[in-house]
Amino acid sequence: MFRKPRFNRPLRRGIAANVPPALRHANRLYADGQFLDAAAAFEELAHGAELRGIPQAAQLYMAAGRCRLELRQPDLAVKNFKRGLSMLAGQGRPIHIQRAAQHCISDLSKKGYLQEASEMMHLLNEYSPEAVEIEKPETALPIVHLPAVCPSCGGTLRSDEVDWIDDNSAECPWCGSSVISA
Ligand SMILES: [Zn+2]
Repeated sequence: MFRKPRFNRPLRRGIAANVPPALRHANRLYADGQFLDAAAAFEELAHGAELRGIPQAAQLYMAAGRCRLELRQPDLAVKNFKRGLSMLAGQGRPIHIQRAAQHCISDLSKKGYLQEASEMMHLLNEYSPEAVEIEKPETALPIVHLPAVCPSCGGTLRSDEVDWIDDNSAECPWCGSSVISA
């Protein structure tokens, strides 16, 4: 009940024309390794999306968090991650929370921020104690490969983080356009 039914979404194939230039720009900054500018850009986009009630705000906060992590700013990273997770929780998406939080935990651990990783683990338990026990349903995911980035907005795509439309296409979590598997 929290999400728009799929048939209300414009189903766009190929390159979507109406992707916000600021989103493309932020994704390009991230891809170029300009994490300081990318973090600021994602945070601004996330704020704007949150104010307008756009569900992609969660994804944008997570991206801002990853940039802050690259900049070795764990406090700001965790702040963004928590905001993103709370937005996913507000959307009633426990599996998405679980996957997103696991990526956060893994990214924090890899950078050596074990205390922050453990903090995120506790948070994940609070959000979805039952979901934590569930193994990632890798086998349930379509056995196709998405492009590494969305052709429309340049956002990084992870096959376990997208909503699959059918066996061959998924919805870009950044811009909502339909991405066809490679
Ligand atoms: Zn996209």
